[in-house]
Amino acid sequence: MSWATTPGRRRIMQGNRSRDTGPELAVRRSVHALGMRYRVSVRPLPQVPRTADLVFPRLRIAVFVDGCFWHSCPIHTPAPTKNIEYWTAKLAANRRRDRETSEILTNAGWLVVRFWEHEDPDRVARTIETAVGERRSSSFR
Ligand SMILES: [Zn+2]
Repeated sequence: MSWATTPGRRRIMQGNRSRDTGPELAVRRSVHALGMRYRVSVRPLPQVPRTADLVFPRLRIAVFVDGCFWHSCPIHTPAPTKNIEYWTAKLAANRRRDRETSEILTNAGWLVVRFWEHEDPDRVARTIETAVGERRSSSFR
């Protein structure tokens, strides 16, 4: 199967870090079902134009559900066959930006948790729950 042949993949390719993608919604539903409350698609640091998918402002936890294509998931990133230079540069820039975002937030005292969109939403939610529990029992009361 090539890229952009299924509706899901086409949707993924249409938007870079678009909100309300299917996998992200599934994660939000699972996290919500576990009783956690969070903010959606906001900047953890208002002065820094980087948006996280789920944000726990008080606990300073930023969750990213990274799209497999745009963020170069090791399992689902296809080797581009057209415009190779363009895509290679574009995806490398995305990876750089992801690393930089994690660094900026971590340096500001945030816990950054990243998942791939292909991961099981319930497992993702439980991992988030663990992170929330750990932060709550540490200095972030
Ligand atoms: Zn993937």
